[in-house]
Formats: sequence, structure tokens, C-alpha cells
Amino acid sequence: MRIDTRLAERLKKISPSATLAITAKAKKLRAEGKDITNFAAGEPDFDTPLFVKEPAIEAINSGFTKYTPTTGTPELKKAISEKFKRDNGLEYNPSQIIVSCGAKHSIFNALFVLVNRHDEVLIPSPYWVSYPEMTYLCEGTPRFIKTHPENNFKMTVKELQRYVGHKSKVLILNSPSNPTGCVYTEDELKEIAELCVKKKIFIISDEIYEKIIYNNLRHYSIAGLSEAVYDLTITVNGLSKSHSMTGWRIGFLGAPQDIADAISKFQDHSTSCASSISQKAATAALNDQSDFSAKMLEEFQRRRDYCIGRLSQMKKLGYIIPDGAFYIFCNISHTGMNALSFADRLLQEALVAVIPGEGFGRSDYMRISFATNLAQLEKGFNRIEEWLNKLP
Ligand code: PMP
Repeated sequence: MRIDTRLAERLKKISPSATLAITAKAKKLRAEGKDITNFAAGEPDFDTPLFVKEPAIEAINSGFTKYTPTTGTPELKKAISEKFKRDNGLEYNPSQIIVSCGAKHSIFNALFVLVNRHDEVLIPSPYWVSYPEMTYLCEGTPRFIKTHPENNFKMTVKELQRYVGHKSKVLILNSPSNPTGCVYTEDELKEIAELCVKKKIFIISDEIYEKIIYNNLRHYSIAGLSEAVYDLTITVNGLSKSHSMTGWRIGFLGAPQDIADAISKFQDHSTSCASSISQKAATAALNDQSDFSAKMLEEFQRRRDYCIGRLSQMKKLGYIIPDGAFYIFCNISHTGMNALSFADRLLQEALVAVIPGEGFGRSDYMRISFATNLAQLEKGFNRIEEWLNKLP
């Protein structure tokens, strides 16, 4: 059997994650004893809070270690239903909620039950690395909507309109965005919602960075803007970013009943329930009275402001001030390099790891993550500055 016939066709279009490649290189250098500054992290650097860990330990000790219902425990789904109402003004009955193994899993599930072969999935670009690959895995066709730095990389309704065709089935929205940090206003979302309703396009709204928003801006959930758009929207969220729980693998979605039922059926036969232990932890996180996310946000705001201060002194780098998430998308075209070689040289020569923009759809940009402490940020920016000054 020839190598290229061993694997299913649908795998052919899938690229390995660009994010993971640079992280692997940085790890290797660190193992060789090099002092690498990591500006590549895709997860908060804070520990999961104790009030989340303790119920999980209790779950293990008391034997809460078996299958739960596929779509999640009743207590967790109740907490999610209350969260959607409290934070987002959204009414999802527990029967419309599916708990999965991370928001990534929730997004994949939603695409899987909506997308037929060759259906188009509209993806504003720059985009989170996994959206196009998930679309390919579902045998759909990604259609990238180019957005512009002049509008903070936010897609206007006119831009969307230009790309909508008879095969368009789903739009993926991500506000606040990874990698650009852009946050859509209520009015911008209203216009997008109206067009999606008119053209009957489903929306997967990835709201995983909801709790990380600066300068007291407000997060809006597109599903809450009208009954008609609610009926087309799958709202995705999770605990990875809000409670520093990336390794616990809990994500969730709220969807119209027919879509939730389809996802439930799919999950029954693919992964079953998320970890029972993590579900206990997630319930505690969602019932959090201590406002862990707000405290984390204060620290992120300090770091963001520090990074912007440093970047404003660097003539060779352009940047978009993020309104949310913990990334800064930087234009590197003045260095004359593409992002892959920029990131590679920066790592080898200045020992700073950043993510090249190719995986996000822009080879003239790189992503800096400020999910690391201020001392590391200072050290990393000193190194970047010195390195840039030496370039011709
Ligand atoms: N969406 C976006 C935009 C992300 O950046 C991430 C994590 N990097 C996820 C979804 C997935 O998060 P998780 O699966 O850990 O819940």
C-alpha cells in the first residue's frame, strides 16, 4: 500500500499547528540550557484557583469518577445556564447546553453537525489557527474574509456581504479575537446579525476570551441581539481562559434545541462526556463569588499597557492595540522578513519565542502573548529592541 493511500483523503488538507512548531523549537532550545523568553503562550500563566481545585480533589476522593450524562452533569448545566443569563442575557435551558472537552471541541462539534461537504464556512481573517483546519475536517470549504488594520481587523458588514454566496452556511465570529484582540461593538454585531438572518447563515460565536476585555469595554453576545439570530447561533465558551483551566478541558455551548440535540447524538458516539472530575471543578468556577477573572484582568491590563509602551518605542514594528484577549498582533513588514523567518531568527538570535502570523492568515504579522509576568515581559522586550536595532 502506498503511503499516500493509507490515510483518509480528508487529512490531506490539514496542516500541523504553526503555533506548536515554534513552541517545540523553543522547548528544545530550553532543554539545551538556553534562557528562552516565552511570548508564545496561548494560556494564562496563573495557577487554577484553589476553590476550583478543591472540589475536584473531593470528586476523586468520593468516587465521583464515572461517566456522567453525555452532555454534562445537571449541576454544571444549571450553572452554565445561569452564567449565560447573568453575563450574556441569553436564555438557554439546560437541554440546549452541551459540555465538551474544551471550547475547541465545542466548535468542532458545532461545525460537524452543520457543515455538508463543500458548504462554505466564512472566516474573518486573521483567524484563530484551528478554524480552517476544522472546516477541512468537516469537508467544508473555508472562505476567508480579509479584514484590515485600519478597522482593527474587524469585519464590516459590507466586507461580509461581498463574500456571502449560495454555498455559505456558517460564519465563525471570535470576539474578543485571537490573534488581533479586536472586540466588536453592539452596533457592529447588529449589522452582521441582520445580514446573517437575511441570508440564513448560521453563526458560531466563539466567546472564549469574554472575560478578558480592557478599559471597561463591554462584551456582547450576538445571539442576544434578536430572536431570529438566536435561532441561528451557537454560543461557545469555556473555562480555559476565564479561570486558567486549559488542562482541565472543559468547554460548552448553548444552541437552538435541534442543533443541541444533533451535537448530543454526535458526542454520544464520539467522545461521550467530559471528565467527571473537571466538571466538578467547572461547576465551582462558574459559581465563583470571588471574582477570580476580574483579578486576573487587572494584571493583564497592567501588562498590556506595559507592552504597548514598549512597542511604541520600536520603529520597526507596527501594532494593533488590543481591546481584549492577551495578545498583540504586530506588523513586521519593515524588517523585510516574512513572519516565519522573523520568528525563527528572533528565537535563535535573541532567544524570544513569538508566533509567526502565517498560521493566522498573515505572513507580515507576528503574535506576542503577554500571558507571562512583567519581569519576563521587560526582559523579552529588551532583547527584541536590541535585536531590532542591530538589523540593517
Ligand atoms: N478559541 C480560541 C480563539 C482560542 O484561542 C482557544 C484556545 N487557544 C480556544 C478556542 C480553545 O480553548 P479550549 O479548547 O482550551 O477551551
